[in-house]
Amino acid sequence: MNSSPLIAQESKIKQPHNHHKVEGNRTMPRYFIWTIGCQMNRAESRQIAGYLDSAGYRAATSFADADLVVLNTCVVRQSAENKVLGTLGLLKGLKDKDANLQILVTGCFVNSHTQELQRRFPHVDLLFKPGDYTELIAWGKKQGMPINQRLSLCPASDTWSAPSPCALVSIIQGCDNFCSYCIVPYRRGREASRPLEEIVHEVAELAKRGVREVTLLGQNVDSYGHDLPGHPDLADLLSELARVDDLARIRFLTNHPKDIGLKLIDAMASVEKICEHLELPVQSGDNNILKSMRRGYTVERYRELVHTVRRKIPQVSLSTDIIVGFPGETADQFENSLSLVREMRFDVVHVAAYSPRPGTIAWREYQDDIPATVKKERLNRIEELQTAIASEINSQLRGKATEVLVEGKKGGKWFGRTRSNKLIFFEDAGDWLGQLARVQIERTSPWSLVGWVKK
Ligand code: SAM
Ligand code: SF4
Repeated sequence: MNSSPLIAQESKIKQPHNHHKVEGNRTMPRYFIWTIGCQMNRAESRQIAGYLDSAGYRAATSFADADLVVLNTCVVRQSAENKVLGTLGLLKGLKDKDANLQILVTGCFVNSHTQELQRRFPHVDLLFKPGDYTELIAWGKKQGMPINQRLSLCPASDTWSAPSPCALVSIIQGCDNFCSYCIVPYRRGREASRPLEEIVHEVAELAKRGVREVTLLGQNVDSYGHDLPGHPDLADLLSELARVDDLARIRFLTNHPKDIGLKLIDAMASVEKICEHLELPVQSGDNNILKSMRRGYTVERYRELVHTVRRKIPQVSLSTDIIVGFPGETADQFENSLSLVREMRFDVVHVAAYSPRPGTIAWREYQDDIPATVKKERLNRIEELQTAIASEINSQLRGKATEVLVEGKKGGKWFGRTRSNKLIFFEDAGDWLGQLARVQIERTSPWSLVGWVKK
């Protein structure tokens, strides 16, 4: 799952600070949600926004416009954690000026020592664990928020207030893998799958409200269902979801190379609604590094897996994640990652410099011995290589027609994604929001495509 700190804000109405919008004789307090990190955080911010909407709040456009601020945080790398600390500092300044400002913090910054965090950040009103809304709801009750109890059961469908044609739906929380570098299992806890019927119900509700595409989320979607009665798996869930009327497309992320099975690959190959795109993080092209990372597969196994996927689904697009500068990574071991990228010809590579995370196995056992300059140089080399590969792959799409689900308009152009998850823009006077358009590809770059709509 790509966790490059992107910032997504849930916001709609601009109002001056502390002049609540008045509807009839009712004052409408405003919220602002600041989100960084992975898609799971984005999905959870959407749920929190829905919860606050239903409690009578309205969205603000900035911290300064808000009566209540939610920080949805990421600490997967030190750089993300630094952003969180910086934002907490900024909010302290705002709270010093306005003691009524309420500050809530969730996401992976919230560890199990909440009392200690509370002491460090006394200006924060509530810290709650990612994906766990019991404390938020209890806090809301104390504030006198009118709370619909069902919110905590099925948040995205009950509170969906501004339908977008694409929705993120969490299917499994937490992670049991403990890759040596990763902090996620410590912050998000053990795996817990949502019941299959609950997900199907939620997706059916979303589809009724205009959603055409869902992306199912989990740190390891291949673990889905192992903890549920009857042990349904992801392929079972997909075949149920494929029956939802009006839903055009289904995606999911992230898969784990040690767990992904043939049953899922066969489902992708045969079920029309499942898009031909896989996020399959390899992390390193070197077996010894993979072992120190505790990834549970070898480069040979990964290569075989990719061959199987490409044989069964020839048009599949593949994304991967790579960490450079893992402790002890030699120049040769880095070259192994570079050659794997060259050989695999991924559509997208998310590359990150290793960042030691306190409490993880790698932090305890290995020294962070690769200098920052070397990490940066390795990162740049992978990015340069991948830019050239993506440029070639995308240029082969020129002149071809492709199906696009139109998500919105930006700078006068419609934008959406192909089934293979490529971003594409086109200009047209019609209303294409939420429509499946057939787009002829005219121009390509490593990052996006441009075309015109065929009617
Ligand atoms: N569950 C997914 C998987 O198995 O790869 C990814 C989850 S992780 C939150 C997202 C990405 O962040 C990882 O794929 C990895 O490349 C990167 N990442 C995680 N911990 C990191 C660390 N300590 N330093 C650098 N990158 C890290
Ligand atoms: Fe982290 Fe590994 Fe779990 Fe992914 S599978 S969230 S990298 S521990």
